[in-house]
Amino acid sequence: MPDAGIDVEGIGYGPHLDEVIGTPTQSDKLGGWPNWVQYRERPSCRECGAEMIHLYQLDDGGPHDLMFGDAGCAYVSYCRSHPEVMTPLWQCH
Ligand SMILES: [Zn+2]
Repeated sequence: MPDAGIDVEGIGYGPHLDEVIGTPTQSDKLGGWPNWVQYRERPSCRECGAEMIHLYQLDDGGPHDLMFGDAGCAYVSYCRSHPEVMTPLWQCH
């Protein structure tokens, strides 16, 4: 089995993740693995600088009728030490 680069906290993964667990779901979802449109992106907490944890994603064209560019997706992350700090970002083609 290739080294997936999965860490014990479940907050990071390497380039072989798809071979180990399959492609993450492309839809609106709470938790789980983000389905990055372009590349893995983890913002840093503005309070402590720690890498933030994926919380949910909103897929372009879902039942909410939101658009995030060309077939894009929005992602929200939070800090484990500062759960009141959330950071949105989005990616598109
Ligand atoms: Zn923090």
